[in-house]
Amino acid sequence: MQPVVIDRVRIFDGQSVVGTGSVECADGVITRVDTGSAPSPSPSALASASAEVIDGAGRTLLPGLIDAHTHVFGAESNLELALAFGVTTELDMFMGPPEATRALCALAGERHDLADLRSSGLLASAPGGHPGVTMPSLPTVAGPGQADAFVAARQAEGAHFIKIMVDDGANHGMSLPALEPATVTALADAARRRGLLSVAHVSAVWSARLALDSGVDVLTHLPLEAALDDAFVGRAAERGRAVIPTLAMLEVSAPRPSTATGVARSLADDPRIAGLLPDHARAAIAEGHEGLCVEHPLPAHDLRHALSSVARLHRAGVPVLAGTDANHRPGRACPVVHGVGLHAELALLVEAGLTPAQALTAATSAPAAYFGLSDRGVIAPGRRADLLLVTGDPTTDITATRSIEAIWRGGVRFDREAYRERVASHTAA
Ligand SMILES: [Zn+2]
Repeated sequence: MQPVVIDRVRIFDGQSVVGTGSVECADGVITRVDTGSAPSPSPSALASASAEVIDGAGRTLLPGLIDAHTHVFGAESNLELALAFGVTTELDMFMGPPEATRALCALAGERHDLADLRSSGLLASAPGGHPGVTMPSLPTVAGPGQADAFVAARQAEGAHFIKIMVDDGANHGMSLPALEPATVTALADAARRRGLLSVAHVSAVWSARLALDSGVDVLTHLPLEAALDDAFVGRAAERGRAVIPTLAMLEVSAPRPSTATGVARSLADDPRIAGLLPDHARAAIAEGHEGLCVEHPLPAHDLRHALSSVARLHRAGVPVLAGTDANHRPGRACPVVHGVGLHAELALLVEAGLTPAQALTAATSAPAAYFGLSDRGVIAPGRRADLLLVTGDPTTDITATRSIEAIWRGGVRFDREAYRERVASHTAA
């Protein structure tokens, strides 16, 4: 593999802009980061003679983006779409069957044209609850006594973390049994004992409280009916919990009149995105309604409650991790699609009050640190060469993440032009 030097580039290392300089990669890892502080020979002069040198003037180099909440549903095309928009790693929050999930994770580990993948595999839910009520083959957890066996089975199947559904189906107009607090506590404990993180789906105030008080590590989604209060965010901070808000999905789930910005749905019109968007993804963004999309909103449902919760959590020091809940799959249209959706999430995190640099941290070093992906998410020698080169400065204008010049996954450059041509030929046909 030919070494690559990206020269004269603004470097966002996963936390902040550390300066303008050069980054060298060889054999899939970052081998050198030089911000030009030392009066040494010019960075490109230090590069090995065989290195490809890319001029990064006017551009910013970031760690490859991590989407901390997606659903791949076994579709390689979702991982390709993700990578085409700079998402080099996805954390899948429910997929089956287990053999297929494990096979896809293995494949994504090897293929340089797909985003890398970690998955919870099957999720824990109550018998007759959401979503098992429509998936009879899904194993359920009837009480605390079944928690350890459930977690052990997922671990044996290769799950990278444990997903717990705390939901009574109200968002879908149903009234279903939800997991009891003692059962959620037993699941979180079992996961911790076995060295796995636990992640709870919570989309209402009651379920967020239940999950927090049951010792779950990560909460995902946020209530639309009210903002989380100071007591809640204080406890979350004290206990070292993290939150994946999935604002992109919440935005399209909130009743239309209260949609503050229409960020997620406007992506398809952005010329920086449109040319690489397959028809099925464009149609899904415009018309899709699968996923969390709340079918029975309460009068109080409003995206602004979730934005306010994000601001409070962030101020209290709770790590906010960028995740989209991208659900799109062939034949089922969800308006939040892989890869593209993360650019909406970043913009919505900024709208909630994070600085652009903090939003970028939420999509790079923060999820890597929280989920134990210690080889990525940061630009530093020895880390994986998962890199995103964009025009402009996304630490001042977050939408600059859409102006993608190049993407490397494990040091291999994604052929974006070939992808663009494939998309165009599909559209023509
Ligand atoms: Zn989800």
